[in-house]
Amino acid sequence: MVADAHPPVVFDTLVVVGPGLIGSSVLRRAKTYGNLARRLIAVDNNPDVCARVLELGIADEATTNGVAAVAQADCVMLCVPVGAMGAVAAQLVPAMKPGAVLTDVGSTKVSVTEAIAPSLRADVPYVPAHPMAGTEFSGPDAGLVDLFENRWCLLTPLEATTAEALQQIRTLWTRCGARLREMTPAHHDRVCAIVSHLPHLLAFTICGTADDLAGETRSEVLDLAASGFRDFTRIAASDPIMWRDIFLANREALLEMLGRFMEDAQAMARAIRWGDADYIVNKIERGREIRKSLIENRQA
Ligand code: NAP
Repeated sequence: MVADAHPPVVFDTLVVVGPGLIGSSVLRRAKTYGNLARRLIAVDNNPDVCARVLELGIADEATTNGVAAVAQADCVMLCVPVGAMGAVAAQLVPAMKPGAVLTDVGSTKVSVTEAIAPSLRADVPYVPAHPMAGTEFSGPDAGLVDLFENRWCLLTPLEATTAEALQQIRTLWTRCGARLREMTPAHHDRVCAIVSHLPHLLAFTICGTADDLAGETRSEVLDLAASGFRDFTRIAASDPIMWRDIFLANREALLEMLGRFMEDAQAMARAIRWGDADYIVNKIERGREIRKSLIENRQA
């Protein structure tokens, strides 16, 4: 399905369903570099979002008619919240051309692959993916052409995923600037529970705790917010629907990681109570080491 256009593209027609932060970043990348697809179509339920996509000039067409759009696609990329993936796939997959590739960018992989499974067709290869990049902003204006640069994109191919479709999606994300890893959906969800979902849970919780404090203290918290609390508020500004869906979709792995975290936090509380300075220093040093390796790994 590699077209002959110049520069060589991965797909002739790419349809992005949900041109929000992630979807519009893919569109921006595709428009700017011209090597992902010859033709770009955005699909969104909201006509105002479609109008905005066209105004931004990041797609050749933008439409609320998903069925008509995907019938023309060589690749359909689902960029909607994880809780909407199943319903969107059920509506659109039956209209896809035989041989066209289905992919998604959902932040959880067990729930998304299970939700999409009933809609799958033998002649439509499906490649689940998760680009691990984002900001706290959403919508078509939030996208960035270099959002995926040097970020990981985790691919969780299924037994039925064809080698050709997997290679096309690998090429697409490599051209978006991402680095690739492959793993099972279950492993993906456990890894993301600790590196992404738990940190968001902590950020939402700590901001709630600060907000629950009596009026005067709260205004001081907000006035005097130092970098630690400020960093939490940036994460806590993330989209509520998206994070509600992620927490519910990755319930088991997230609760397991939260349980482990609470045990470790209790151990830290005990060390502070009993003046165990070595324990405290050891934990902080481990944190510093992790930050150092993140910088060396170009993920900071
Ligand atoms: P976003 O900016 O809020 O965009 C979501 C898009 O999905 C919008 O175009 C929205 O349309 C559409 N949408 C919402 N609900 C829908 C529904 N029920 N049916 C059809 N379309 C619907 O969100 P995002 O941050 O790009 O996230 C999109 C996907 O990427 C999610 O699956 C998320 O898990 C994943 N992801 C996010 C990040 C991140 O950090 N943000 C990172 C990696 C992966 P309207 O604007 O018209 O509502």
